[in-house]
Amino acid sequence: MSQLSEIKCPVCAQWSNWTGKVDAKCPHCGAQLEPEHLKYEQEKKARTEQTKESSYLIIKDTDDTIVQMGKQFVNWLRWSTFFGISVIYFFVALMILVFGVVALV
Ligand SMILES: [Zn+2]
Repeated sequence: MSQLSEIKCPVCAQWSNWTGKVDAKCPHCGAQLEPEHLKYEQEKKARTEQTKESSYLIIKDTDDTIVQMGKQFVNWLRWSTFFGISVIYFFVALMILVFGVVALV
């Protein structure tokens, strides 16, 4: 039995060795062997990049200095807001713990 798996080309229907790569092409006609899978991978990648872009502003070299400073400030503000909320939650939890211990004593 062969260890190699084969894949059928969706365009020319020829069988070829399956390399496991998402962007594998048919050696007979050059068509994408897994167009659906490739599309899915590309969409997933695009979505990840989109999420990254929406959570933080990308500072480009082509931006004016004032724009870069503005973006840096917004990024810092977002980060510190997130950090600040975490600190507040931590203090609230600590207070509950401290007062709980005091009430027991
Ligand atoms: Zn083909």
